[in-house]
Amino acid sequence: MEEVNKEQQEEGSMVIDLGSIDTQRLFVGGENKQSLYVNSLSSREMESLTAICDTLFPSVYGSNMMAAAADDGYTNSISSFYRSSASMAGTPQRVGGLFCERVQHPKKWLIRLTLYVLSTWIGTFVLCGFASMSPSFPFFLRFSQISQRKRERILLSWSTSFFYLLRMLFKSIKLVIPLVFFSQVDEKNENLTWKAIGYPGPDPAALKRQTQTCRLPNTMYTSLKNDDDDDEHGCKEEHLFGPLYRGLINLNLPRGRVADSLRQIGFPVSIRRGNNISSSRDFSSSNPSLVIKCDAVVVGSGSGGGVVAGVLAKAGYKVVVLEKGNYFARNNLSLLEGPSMDQMYLGGGMLATDDMGVIVLAGSTVGGGSTINWSASFKTPQHVIKEWSESYDLELFDSKLYKEALDAVCEKMGVQSDFVEEGFNNAVLRRGCEELGYPVNTIPRNSAPDHYCGWCCFGCKDGTKKGTCETWLKDLVDSGNGAILPGCEAIKVLHERKKGKDRRAASGVAFGFENNGVKELCVVESKVTVVACGALSTPAFLKASGLKNANIGKHLHLHPVTMAWGYFPEAPHSATAWPEGQKKSYEGGIMTAMSTVVSNANKSGYGAVIQTPALHPGMFSGLIPWVSGADMKRRMCRFSRTAHVFALARDRGSGTVSSPSSINYRMDAEDEKNLQKGLEKTLRILAAAGAEEIGTHHSTGKSLNVKAVGYREFERFVKEESARPLRDLTGQICSAHQMGSCRMGVNPKESVVNQTGETWEVEGLFVADTSVFPTALGVNPMVTVQAIAYCTAQSDKQATPNSRQNTFYAHVSPPMPRPKSRFLRELSRRFRIANNKGRCHHSLKGLKNSILDH
Ligand SMILES: Cc1cc2nc3c(=O)[nH]c(=O)nc-3n(C[C@H](O)[C@H](O)[C@H](O)COP(=O)(O)OP(=O)(O)OC[C@H]3O[C@@H](n4cnc5c(N)ncnc54)[C@H](O)[C@@H]3O)c2cc1C
Repeated sequence: MEEVNKEQQEEGSMVIDLGSIDTQRLFVGGENKQSLYVNSLSSREMESLTAICDTLFPSVYGSNMMAAAADDGYTNSISSFYRSSASMAGTPQRVGGLFCERVQHPKKWLIRLTLYVLSTWIGTFVLCGFASMSPSFPFFLRFSQISQRKRERILLSWSTSFFYLLRMLFKSIKLVIPLVFFSQVDEKNENLTWKAIGYPGPDPAALKRQTQTCRLPNTMYTSLKNDDDDDEHGCKEEHLFGPLYRGLINLNLPRGRVADSLRQIGFPVSIRRGNNISSSRDFSSSNPSLVIKCDAVVVGSGSGGGVVAGVLAKAGYKVVVLEKGNYFARNNLSLLEGPSMDQMYLGGGMLATDDMGVIVLAGSTVGGGSTINWSASFKTPQHVIKEWSESYDLELFDSKLYKEALDAVCEKMGVQSDFVEEGFNNAVLRRGCEELGYPVNTIPRNSAPDHYCGWCCFGCKDGTKKGTCETWLKDLVDSGNGAILPGCEAIKVLHERKKGKDRRAASGVAFGFENNGVKELCVVESKVTVVACGALSTPAFLKASGLKNANIGKHLHLHPVTMAWGYFPEAPHSATAWPEGQKKSYEGGIMTAMSTVVSNANKSGYGAVIQTPALHPGMFSGLIPWVSGADMKRRMCRFSRTAHVFALARDRGSGTVSSPSSINYRMDAEDEKNLQKGLEKTLRILAAAGAEEIGTHHSTGKSLNVKAVGYREFERFVKEESARPLRDLTGQICSAHQMGSCRMGVNPKESVVNQTGETWEVEGLFVADTSVFPTALGVNPMVTVQAIAYCTAQSDKQATPNSRQNTFYAHVSPPMPRPKSRFLRELSRRFRIANNKGRCHHSLKGLKNSILDH
């Protein structure tokens, strides 16, 4: 210990004003280039993969191409798009790289096996049947030797095959290959398809603003500038680096510099020398290279973690935030779909349930989901509050504190319900509902009324979308009490048994990070540990930390979503064309309109809401049906005028999650019915809004030219398409909301955490993310998770009773509304004492009675 202190002193004498210098590599880490993954597929596997890619996206010559080119007037770009195949664009190599290094799925082996099998004639015959045979010698062919027309037929037959594994196989290749083809970029950040499909790439308005002001330099900054000093271009550092730049710590720098930066913010740090490099994830086998001390460590900087961190730091506690994802300064956001998905989404945006039934999207960057989400900001619906407080005995949700929390988080995020101009998809949804007399509401958003962008799903370039980076994490940094460590993955919670206690107590977190290709381990010692890794990652983290509660990872809800689309021709010369010619499907506030026509909120509380997504070309092409190469290209030429509307179910059914790459979820039959009802309404909405052609994402790819058919044919189409099964991998289900996998409850048999957010098993270990939701929510969850986290932060403050910062908190009155519900705070305090003594109160009601008895 003495040695450590000595070291600490020695390091401490290196007084260097570092500030933002330390963070430099993090800022430039947001450069636009898509990571190039090493493709280690064998040449035989590549032969099959290339053939599959070219089957999906072949060179198309002839009448289809000419018709599309003539229709759209971009003759050159369209004909070159039609003529380009996936292999001409280098897509197979990129897909191979992603597959080898990025895709994490329990059935990944199946694809690899298939690629190998298809490189043999016998394997091709087994998988493709007689369709793969040639009439002439040698009769049997490898997949790559089969003609394009036949290969298309074979792939299409897989999409609706009797064999589940073939349907699954089709789903995976159909998702990843189009995603790469339409989102990959060359050295100029361009994609050869974009001009033809009417897509500009990154938001042109944001790029213009960026060049008019200044770009983030790629060279290392060498001095810390004063916040008030402008640089030579007149740009302030906050403008360049975003509001968090003073609080970000780059662990890739030498230990001494990292330690000094942390000490400057007031964290005691010791540097350990010796064997602290590990190739394993087993903390016990290695020494940490840094030990950081703080009041609270928060794992995950997303919607939940950001709030706890901000509230505690502002109250005077010393808070360290560990974030697995990287930080992207506003000015360094690429707004390119491929690189952004790769760098800011969990699993590179390519996660799915283990049967490929649901495509799962979640954020993984500083700010988590709040950085890349679609800004819908709903307070917890009243019927859900009623259910959670009455049926689940969770009085927290009916408390004054929770109401205050909802108001506080909405105020912090500037939630408002106006918009200056409505984007393409939302205008379609609103008009369709109005025509049909369906209820349609304006969605409250955490962005300004004039925020009309459409690229916020890759981060908000001007910071007007108020994710946690612009709000709670900013509070953390501004308070001078917090540090954010991006690129650091928490490995396990440290906990120990203390004398006289029957529960173990959390004492911090071990985390790993990669320093120039070498994995290192560090430790944060803390009085309070808050886990907010999101509903997909928190269960694995708790289990890795030795927690045994049987509910961990269970009751996972996904808010399954299914979509319908409608094509609205541009007709640039027609004054009556609607939506107006200049409007594009990928632009505008992502969510401004919603219908509750099948939400069932007044009855069972379980139904579906109807909203609109943000779909840029990669995701759009990954979701729309593929029936042939030429048809896919035709559909993509209509991309910019194809509106999407979806139904989102409040799912009663649930699944289990062991890790983000191991999600088991089978949709409940009731939920499927609710989605089918929603899908029926969405098809009607699109037609009523004036779509020329409508369809769903079912593998058959059927569509209807609404203008060319009568009432009966229309009705038949809508009923048939919306009645198709959604659970058999022939439809397409997505999820952007995950919750419930460590649910809150009033006893440890049915839940993982109590009402204060503290785990039943380990004292001082809290969970503050969507995993604590008792059931599915039914609306977009950001405000609810923030409100719960806000309440949890009040509990955390009490869990650090000996902190010297308590005096600070007692003397400094924070400007943010402080929790007024003394009663509830007292309840939770006693709750904890009771638990520590083994007198476990199973509900706050019981506890309230016991307090009243005193
Ligand atoms: C595309 C998309 C659009 C959405 N749109 C909306 C919307 O409009 N409105 C709305 O209300 N909700 C929306 N959501 C959902 C909302 O963003 C999430 O529900 C919410 O952010 C979840 O909060 P969380 O705190 O549970 O987790 P997250 O916000 O996901 O944060 C978890 C963080 O923990 C980090 N992490 C995980 N494991 C570790 C580890 N071991 N160590 C360190 N860090 C770790 C992750 O990298 C991540 O950054 C959307 C989500 C997506 C994906």
